[in-house]
Amino acid sequence: LYLDQPLEAGREVPATSGQAHYLGSVMRRAPGDAVLLFNGRDGEWEGRIAAIRKDRCTLAPERLARPQAPQADTRLLVAALKRDAMEWVVEKATELGIGLIQPVLTRRSVADRVNTTRLAAIAQEAAEQCERLGLPRVEPARPLPAVLDAWDGIPLLVGAERRESPSLGRVAQGMHAPWAWLVGPEGGFERVELDDLARRAFVSTASLGPRILRAETAAVAGLALLQALAGD
Ligand code: SAM
Repeated sequence: LYLDQPLEAGREVPATSGQAHYLGSVMRRAPGDAVLLFNGRDGEWEGRIAAIRKDRCTLAPERLARPQAPQADTRLLVAALKRDAMEWVVEKATELGIGLIQPVLTRRSVADRVNTTRLAAIAQEAAEQCERLGLPRVEPARPLPAVLDAWDGIPLLVGAERRESPSLGRVAQGMHAPWAWLVGPEGGFERVELDDLARRAFVSTASLGPRILRAETAAVAGLALLQALAGD
């Protein structure tokens, strides 16, 4: 269970009403039952349900079971996609261990706003499900040129379809974090955006094969490959 509270032995913490409902009504848990707790900072704690009643529940962390490992600096930059696709990408990127998700507004982005709060909630649920201890940072959407202008220089790999780019597998061989993976919108990048990317020294393009993948497929397939070859 994710709790936005400091975790330490002997300090009871309240669950949210949603978690209390889940534990009591869905899982039929009772006082004294074991739970696993994390907050994205203090590692994973074994604990117990101290008290539970309807939509109220108090949890007691008892023992640090897994210390917090440092999060590798891995980033997904993804053009603002339709809501369902965006939410799916955030869920899968979290499962794949991404450190930061930066939605970017591009010329052909179909969405011009992104609900960061909702995406962060999806990331939290995905982290709970996959037993990941740290949450990815979900940044507010920003225009692609602004993100590039403020970039700190870590290698940025751009998913490029229909172009003579080396395969991502080859580009990622021997790489280590930090790295970032950028995927364009449903309609692809515009020429001027590709030219802008090409003149930045930290950018390389990489291909996932000769087929045109949906943006969400390219986002997740690229991350899976990068995580396997250059992740933690
Ligand atoms: N409208 C574009 C076209 O038909 O040429 C396709 C854009 S594609 C649906 C969306 C994004 O996914 C692209 O901007 C690119 O970043 C990524 N992508 C799609 N297929 C890819 C591939 N084979 N290799 C690498 N990236 C790919």
